[in-house]
Amino acid sequence: MDTPSPALMDAFGLLREDLYVHLEEASYLADDDEWSPEDMDRARQLIRDLVFVVRGLLVEHRTQEGGHDCTICSAPWPCPVVNTIHTVVKDPQRQFYALVERVHENG
Ligand SMILES: [Zn+2]
Repeated sequence: MDTPSPALMDAFGLLREDLYVHLEEASYLADDDEWSPEDMDRARQLIRDLVFVVRGLLVEHRTQEGGHDCTICSAPWPCPVVNTIHTVVKDPQRQFYALVERVHENG
């Protein structure tokens, strides 16, 4: 595999930084002490968008047909991406877990 050129590495860095800016802005919304009605609408849509992203990663990082490796990473499944998602979603200290527990408790 060829080593990417310095210009391409700079472009990758800029893309990564741009994506981090968007994620940080989403995180800042959660840190606001008071939410306006517009902030609440934005947060609701943001939850949908974040679930869309996580679900998309799970769909993409599936096992190869007839195999045990990830179609994207080529790592043995569950690949590092799926392991990271599993760690966060199944953590009892996080809301993904608490929400499902609440549904089970309420029948
Ligand atoms: Zn993967």
